[in-house]
Amino acid sequence: MRKPLVAGNWKMNKTVEQARALVSEMLPGLQAVSEVERVLCPPFTSLMAIAAMLSGTEIGLGAQNMHWEAAGAFTGEISPAMVKEFCQYVILGHSERRTHFGETDETVNRKVRAALANALTPIVCIGETLAENEAGRTAEVVSRQIEQGLKDLTPEQASALVIAYEPVWAIGTGRAASGQDANRVVAEVIRPTLSRMFGPAVAEAVRVLYGGSVTAANAAEFFSQPHIDGALVGGASLKAAEFVKIVEAAA
Ligand code: 13P
Repeated sequence: MRKPLVAGNWKMNKTVEQARALVSEMLPGLQAVSEVERVLCPPFTSLMAIAAMLSGTEIGLGAQNMHWEAAGAFTGEISPAMVKEFCQYVILGHSERRTHFGETDETVNRKVRAALANALTPIVCIGETLAENEAGRTAEVVSRQIEQGLKDLTPEQASALVIAYEPVWAIGTGRAASGQDANRVVAEVIRPTLSRMFGPAVAEAVRVLYGGSVTAANAAEFFSQPHIDGALVGGASLKAAEFVKIVEAAA
């Protein structure tokens, strides 16, 4: 059985002081739901402070991005070892990184391999744009993102990662996919692609999250789908009570 996982992607929000306040507010509620793997992904600048607050709890910490190189002249970048000092997870290939910062399936692949080599759990984001969706290209786009993003991984490495299916048109728009539609993409495209690449056992074992306008009101619709194992939550993860409710819905 796949353990449910709910991660909060805070994106570019919260100073250290604000981050501490938000975590204090949600921590008791989050700690009560041990059946769910819970992960917070604040900005880099808050990782150290939040790692200290989460120490001794079972709540995981993730970064929102990292570079694949180990060290060197890469101004403004953060290495896998730097992330690993505080985190167990790293979000990779988010559509905002692909859209605004030029990330491609190839750079996502380098990052995924670097994360796995550093014993970080990658949360690899995939998903089609509105235009691709309307043109009936969802299956083609999503399978390509998996084939290229997870290229050259061993089955053992692949079974350690998490995929977040985030249709781009559903992110931050208040227009979530329906649970059924998202489940269909996972069942008919994502798991079959993983199965072709890594075998059926890996395809069954990998956790696939849904992301895109998840709220306390619609979370249960996603979590009741057989192929959806949790959520990557953006806006609603910045509201303590609402994020706790989403985590509770996954239990
Ligand atoms: P929203 O939940 O704000 O739509 O963002 C989803 C997302 O991009 C999570 O990575």
